[in-house]
Amino acid sequence: MIYQPELECMSRDELRALQTERLKETVRWEYDHVALYRERMDEAGVSPEDIKTFDDITKLPFTEKEDLRKEFPFGLLAVPREEIVRIQGSSGTTGHPIVVGYTEGDVDVWSEMVARAMCAAGATKEDIVQVAYGYGLFTGGLGAHQGATEIGAMVIPMSSGNTQRQIMMMRELGATMLCCTPSYAIYLGETAREMGLVPGVDLKLKSGVFGAEPWTEEMRAKLEDVLGIDAYDIYGLTEIAGPGVAFECPEKHGMHVNEDHVIIECIDPVTGKHQPAGTPGELVFTTITKKGQPAIRYRTHDICTLDDSPCACGRTTVRMGRITGRTDDMLVIRGVNVFPSQIESILVGVKGASPHYLLEVDRINSTDALTVKVEMAPDMAVDAISSIENLRNTIADQIKSVVGIKAKVQLVAPKSIARSEGKAKRVIDKRKL
Ligand code: ADP
Ligand code: ZN
Repeated sequence: MIYQPELECMSRDELRALQTERLKETVRWEYDHVALYRERMDEAGVSPEDIKTFDDITKLPFTEKEDLRKEFPFGLLAVPREEIVRIQGSSGTTGHPIVVGYTEGDVDVWSEMVARAMCAAGATKEDIVQVAYGYGLFTGGLGAHQGATEIGAMVIPMSSGNTQRQIMMMRELGATMLCCTPSYAIYLGETAREMGLVPGVDLKLKSGVFGAEPWTEEMRAKLEDVLGIDAYDIYGLTEIAGPGVAFECPEKHGMHVNEDHVIIECIDPVTGKHQPAGTPGELVFTTITKKGQPAIRYRTHDICTLDDSPCACGRTTVRMGRITGRTDDMLVIRGVNVFPSQIESILVGVKGASPHYLLEVDRINSTDALTVKVEMAPDMAVDAISSIENLRNTIADQIKSVVGIKAKVQLVAPKSIARSEGKAKRVIDKRKL
């Protein structure tokens, strides 16, 4: 189902024209109301009048998370403080938290973006949506809540945590959809099974919209199996809108970007130049419908590939592939670039291993050493030493051949790695401690 076909399925030409108009307005708005943007543009020798065509966006300077930190809390507001009705903040995965102010109109825009995502995952007024993202400054909880409300579904605002109670409510209220991080969804699914509940019989879940952290196709298969659902990816970040910037359609072949609200660019992180279609790069976003705290050419540090080929669902918006990682998350181990998602794909695909893992990097005798801790699947026969040895070797061999580095693989007992209720922590880099 398509929530707003007239906006999601516009011709590319119409969309470009709309984006260009909105870009011009946003640049003018920022220049007139926010000192930092005015100074940056003056320094770069570009004025709002220079933005005439879509491609003129490349004349504009980039912004960074550091700018939000510097201007914390209200320095980037483009409206008087009293026009702001909501503050959201980043979860602080990478350093000091930042906050973003929303006007009433900005909250509406954001809700619409999430509603499109929920609708694509099959949500209707009939649905009962359990929101198990954290509520609070983090955009996940309220974002999913607003999107489901916009559709007219019934929301169970559980927030994250209280896992057993969460499952009890899911069962007794008959939740049909679930929204949370993929790592928490796995945990919920496993706990439900341990409580003796059978998805499809005791639980009525049919689909889920999961995001806020990178996950892999292998993880999707696991999640769909453990919860007996159809799992959809959703992407967003606080600085732009929170979840709903992009979302999967039933084709599950990349996430459609809400291009009437944001402009997406994919750049070479070193040169800042646009990557050719199909080449991975860093995502850069410009909001074109926000008033409270718009962002111009905001560098996300998220790496992925864009796809502008037509989608069978009928939406005409560009799709972003899965985020392979953040440039800040990328581990450089003995000179080799390693993303945790590469290791996840391997682990989740190996029989006998579970999707719970932790990567530890250390420097031993001035050489980087990677230890991959992974829980054995609960049903793995632990009596046979040889089978443990085999499992360890299989994982190590695959890491060597796919990632190109030697890793020490440590199999640990089921449930010995801490479960995540929000964004999972997958890496401990002791070199930085
Ligand atoms: P923080 O930077 O503190 O984690 P946010 O809560 O705003 O702040 O999280 C936004 C980031 O989360 C994105 O920049 C991206 O790295 C990650 N993210 C969000 N959704 C997804 C997704 N579907 N897949 C991969 N990564 C995601
Ligand atoms: Zn599609």
